Amino acid sequence: MAGTGQHELERITLIHTNDLHSHFEAMPRIASFIRVQRELLGADRVLALDIGDHLDRMSPETEGTDGRANVDVLNATGIEAFVPGNNEGLTLAPELLRAAFAGRARFPVVCANLREASTGRIPDWMTPTHVIVKGKLRIGLIGVTAAFADYYRLLGWIADEPLQAVAARAAELRGQADIVVVLSHLGLRLDEQMAAEVPGIDVILGGHTHHLLEQPRQIGAVTVCGAGNTASTRASSSSRTARSGGGSSKPPAASRTSAAARPTRK
Ligand SMILES: [Zn+2]
Repeated sequence: MAGTGQHELERITLIHTNDLHSHFEAMPRIASFIRVQRELLGADRVLALDIGDHLDRMSPETEGTDGRANVDVLNATGIEAFVPGNNEGLTLAPELLRAAFAGRARFPVVCANLREASTGRIPDWMTPTHVIVKGKLRIGLIGVTAAFADYYRLLGWIADEPLQAVAARAAELRGQADIVVVLSHLGLRLDEQMAAEVPGIDVILGGHTHHLLEQPRQIGAVTVCGAGNTASTRASSSSRTARSGGGSSKPPAASRTSAAARPTRK
């Protein structure tokens, strides 16, 4: 973009966790890492996200509070958006899931492929997409979760095919956001398929299969990341040219870096 004088480089650091499975002992270090990154880089340059399976009912703290302890920790960590994993969606009945998150979570629960069977709609405490503005960058988020359709049906949910859900929402978001990030609790194989087949995505932050990509994987124009599990914290930085004039097309990636802070696991 050199020479046009119209585009300014915007850098945003995405910090993402997934599959913590109620390992509460790891969470203070993650919260500290995020707080330090915000202090170093500025809160408008950091976006902290959780990609699901934060809770696990094997934990007495989770079981004893029906997941509310996890939501309190997500709040205290300063997580800015969350997609439910199968441990949230399938091990808590819908009314318990609502009680844990609705009115309690101080972040949007973003999921585009779960609908209530009774209404056919996404519940009022979830949103399929969410746009967060950081600096001059409008970041469009889409959440999707592993569609165990038969199990979800037994609980009163309709789990839609996730890649179709992403395709529809990415097309919608493209006009409202400079960068489209998918929070994917689908697993690496589907993340790779999504990157190859679904247009309109820039970054996929993945979980569910506990894959740790030490370096983000580049598939075409899409950056695929995965933070492992339990006590892994990844920080991925993407530089993007922000649109400063109207009508420009999708901004190209200028550079990407990645840094990891992995607390030792007990
Ligand atoms: Zn999972």
